[in-house]
Amino acid sequence: MQTGAGKLHGNVYVERCSSARCGRDVRRRFPVRRRPDRLTGRACPTCGSPLTDSGIDFWQGLPERHLRRALEASRAARFSLVLGSSLRVAPAAELPFGKGGVGIVNLMNTPGDGRAETQIRSYAKIDLFMYHLMEALGLEHPRPGAVEGAEGAEGSEGAEGSEGGGLVSATQMKRLAAGRVKVREGFVGEEQRERDFADALLEVEAGLV
Ligand SMILES: [Zn+2]
Repeated sequence: MQTGAGKLHGNVYVERCSSARCGRDVRRRFPVRRRPDRLTGRACPTCGSPLTDSGIDFWQGLPERHLRRALEASRAARFSLVLGSSLRVAPAAELPFGKGGVGIVNLMNTPGDGRAETQIRSYAKIDLFMYHLMEALGLEHPRPGAVEGAEGAEGSEGAEGSEGGGLVSATQMKRLAAGRVKVREGFVGEEQRERDFADALLEVEAGLV
């Protein structure tokens, strides 16, 4: 998943070390929840500094090594395929327009539509476009919902027990947490219910780390 990929604007399944010197990316099987202080409550396995989510806000610079990877890949590319991007945020929007041709698949118009490099322009949905592209290239299609292991995570103990290492979606996380919420006697107010649910979600996350 990480090999060679430059993830300019982060990944919900990746936490990032807050130490500028280390900056390690740590993969998670569950979506990392963004909090106001950006901290996830977990520590970097390499240097022990607090981990944050890996998202990028407008004021934040792009992670250098990811930008470098993306620049190298775009310079070397004979053809760039843009999938589901408005092509309006620099520098990412400029990356596909190097020496090679460009294909754009997006439901709305983009500033790249009329450019000389743009050889393919499709308004199809990405899944449909990729289905036909992979057919044409004779490549095996990924199975629908091929988030392996996530299936097994549906049971109340599944996620912790399964060694599959597949990704668990936000919806599946909520389902797992719902099965763990502390049972209380009598009336339980909404605030308490939310706190209990948050605790259960933390517990599920801890089991997947
Ligand atoms: Zn670190």
